[in-house]
Amino acid sequence: MISRLKEKGAGDLLKCIQCGSCTSSCIVNAVNEYFNPRRIIGSIVKFNRLPDQDPWLCSSCSICVERCPQRVNPLSVIMALRMIKYENGDAPPSRVFELIEQIKKTGLAFPLSNEAYEKRRSLGLPELEMDEESLKEVKKILSEAGF
Ligand code: SF4
Ligand code: SF4
Repeated sequence: MISRLKEKGAGDLLKCIQCGSCTSSCIVNAVNEYFNPRRIIGSIVKFNRLPDQDPWLCSSCSICVERCPQRVNPLSVIMALRMIKYENGDAPPSRVFELIEQIKKTGLAFPLSNEAYEKRRSLGLPELEMDEESLKEVKKILSEAGF
């Protein structure tokens, strides 16, 4: 399992010392104890099999990457797990496809509320609208990825 994960770009899991810095800084673990990057890595190393935890819960915030003292890159492990699960026939949750449709339409992963747009304007921030050319590029990338 470790070599398969590495083929998919996962960092060196064997360098993990189970310190828990990834989990203590994980914004998803803060609201859902079930999702625990330290345990994900620990169970792969210990049992050499796919962990039960859902890798799609990760928000890809990268905080764990910055905090890991061993430079394991827990996010890369989670991304590799997604790929392997997908190859094994484990489809991503429907919210992922909704997200892709949203990106196709607007170029944004998450729609902003009117209040958020107003706040941006009051702070003098630029409008968050993707121009046609950039949106075409985004659609092309998604299409080449099979979406
Ligand atoms: S922060 Fe790094 S070394 Fe510590 S448990 Fe997480 S992956 Fe392992
Ligand atoms: S990238 Fe994923 S696992 Fe790492 S801290 Fe963020 S939500 Fe947690």
